[in-house]
Amino acid sequence: MSQYKILPLAPVSWQQLQAQAIRSPEQLLRRLQLPASLLAEIENSSLAFSLRVPEPYLQRIEPGNPDDPLLRQILPLAEELHTTKGFSCDPVGDGAARNLPGLLHKYHGRVLIITTGSCGIHCRYCFRRHYPYNDDRLSDDHWQGILGYLREDPNITEVILSGGDPLTLSDQRLQNQLQDLAEIPHLQRLRIHSRQPIVLPQRVNDELLQMLAKSRLQTVLVVHVNHANELDGEVKACMQQLKQAGITLLNQSVLLRGVNDDANSLCELSERLFECGILPYYLHQLDRVVGAAHFEVDELQTRSLMEELRRRLPGYLVPKLVSEQAGAAYKLPLDVSIST
Ligand SMILES: *Cc1c(COP(=O)(O)O)cnc(C)c1O
Ligand code: SF4
Repeated sequence: MSQYKILPLAPVSWQQLQAQAIRSPEQLLRRLQLPASLLAEIENSSLAFSLRVPEPYLQRIEPGNPDDPLLRQILPLAEELHTTKGFSCDPVGDGAARNLPGLLHKYHGRVLIITTGSCGIHCRYCFRRHYPYNDDRLSDDHWQGILGYLREDPNITEVILSGGDPLTLSDQRLQNQLQDLAEIPHLQRLRIHSRQPIVLPQRVNDELLQMLAKSRLQTVLVVHVNHANELDGEVKACMQQLKQAGITLLNQSVLLRGVNDDANSLCELSERLFECGILPYYLHQLDRVVGAAHFEVDELQTRSLMEELRRRLPGYLVPKLVSEQAGAAYKLPLDVSIST
């Protein structure tokens, strides 16, 4: 008789979860028990910007509900193929602010680095859906060029790692970047803009926590959550670890029709964020990018939503409503006060 040893299942790494993200419309419909009649629409609409959604995010979607607010963020719909007046491919003027390959310097004192074109999830409303990058990470030459630019400008005190999503990069790659940045004496803060800790909390591993905790630079992580259902127990635990590592946690959301365009959803989002140790930072008005017009919330409704939030929430849980205008010196706050 032969003996079989039962090996414990190896924990699945974040890289594996990343690689196993659903990219096939058919698989998505099956996984979420959605009608097969949606297939042609999804296939067509995902040609320009592909479908991508990792398992931890999928688990928070209610099967069989085509209106689920998390599903709507990732489901390619026929409306994406419509062209709408006023919607363009580069709505925020990124083309003009590209001082060097991979570097955007629009605002005083801080620069944004596009470390990679790849993201762990593809959000249908994304303003970068037509950005001319592929899945490639920044080349070493471009990285050296950026370091040179930073060294020469002592006014720059903050570097923002963005993308794409910088936390799709390996620990080794990030470690090297952090070390290079920390050697520039006038840099004080490192900011990471990432949706990974939300859609793939496994990404926040010990290596990442340690490298952020140890860095000379003060670190801010700006996550991206649009609906309270995105914040499950796993995400909360992940945020607690980040807090313990001394990282400041902020959130940015996009105001999205059919996802979070009602006062209850937005209040619940702010309260749930706070429970997870995250403060609301920005609520972005949708960038007017081709293919996302169906997500836009009109101005009147936006004003009354903000009014309702101010009535119902403590001031520190009301996000700043902003819109990004090409050529502006900062993200423009939208004055939405109404007198009643
Ligand atoms: C949004 C953005 C920033 C950060 O702006 P804050 O108002 O500081 O959050 C910096 N650079 C670029 C190019 C941006 O798009
Ligand atoms: S994670 Fe951010 S950059 Fe990536 S697709 Fe979503 S919104 Fe766009």
